[in-house]
Amino acid sequence: MTKQYNIACLPGDGIGPEIVAEAVKVLELVAEQTGVTFNFSYGRIGGIAIDEDGTPLPDETLRIAKAADAVLLGAVGGPKWDQNPGHLRPETGLLGIRKGLGLFANLRPATMTDSLLEASTLKPEVVAGVDLIVVRELTGGIYFGQKKRFTDENGRDTAVDELIYNEDEIERIIRVSFEIARKRSKKLCSVDKANVLESSRLWRKVAERVAADYPDVELTHQLVDSCAMQLVRAPKQFDVIVTENMFGDILSDQAAMLTGSIGMLASASLAEGSFGLFEPVHGSAPDIAGKGIANPLATILSAAMLLRLSLGLDDAADKVEKSVWAVLDAGHRTGDIGADKSKALGTIAMGELVREEL
Ligand code: ATP
Ligand code: MG
Repeated sequence: MTKQYNIACLPGDGIGPEIVAEAVKVLELVAEQTGVTFNFSYGRIGGIAIDEDGTPLPDETLRIAKAADAVLLGAVGGPKWDQNPGHLRPETGLLGIRKGLGLFANLRPATMTDSLLEASTLKPEVVAGVDLIVVRELTGGIYFGQKKRFTDENGRDTAVDELIYNEDEIERIIRVSFEIARKRSKKLCSVDKANVLESSRLWRKVAERVAADYPDVELTHQLVDSCAMQLVRAPKQFDVIVTENMFGDILSDQAAMLTGSIGMLASASLAEGSFGLFEPVHGSAPDIAGKGIANPLATILSAAMLLRLSLGLDDAADKVEKSVWAVLDAGHRTGDIGADKSKALGTIAMGELVREEL
């Protein structure tokens, strides 16, 4: 009996279906080469689910995702649904699936390669060699605390967003980060605002406590404002950064752009155990949807993370990543990573080159 894995595919909206199709073809080839079986199931999420099912996250989709070993997601959203009320917005489906699957750890690698460096408009002496990962807490903090609007005693509209964390929520994300740091260069930078926020002081205390279990990893603390500055000034000093939800939202976008195009950036969102959801960082790119020109590499790199983090197929993951870098090193480009208009490859052609290399 060959080893079987269930992978739920949620292509979503815009370029989602085009780029997920390329990643699935890569996974099919990986299965052939490694002698395992991938059972793919498909579900709707986002705008397409609003149109077909009347909700951005149908129960059936959550069921398919929960029954799988890992989820591969494309992207959701588009102008068609922009004016919808909150519960009928595609993005609500995304928040819902994160919460519904308990995905508390969001991993965003930012790796600068020689070929991306060539296309980069940033100073090479600053960004060459950047290889870091931001770990963002995804199911707590200010995004999920109480929200209130009221009129104060002077008749002014007033709003409150509560930022709340308990020590268990902090501990599990810190542990995930130490485990990742242990497999990399053994440096973990915990980012907070402990000079101002009580939640950050708890964060720091828990990080220190957990650090005792990882004597081989060097833990440092940095204030979020300083980290933002250092990411621009000298990003190579970082290896693994861990931080709470909102700081992570901002810093992970900032860190990602050090390496260039949004069409290249993968992400993983992990639950307890090995289950995870994997998706490109970019959105549904409605401006280029259906044109066959979207860059599929961020999704293919997300599939590589799926192989490594959820299925434990590390060698296959390495091979997929190496194939992507090799295709880029050979000079092949989609439009978003600096190809001349006349030489730009389409989505399918780029996917095919990765498979040939593999
Ligand atoms: P979201 O709100 O869903 O994050 P967004 O408005 O921030 O979406 P994206 O959908 O990520 O933006 O697109 C931003 C720009 O990057 C667009 O011009 C889009 O065409 C381009 N883009 C995004 N993804 C890709 C891709 N895979 N290949 C090529 N271009 C892309
Ligand atoms: Mg965006």
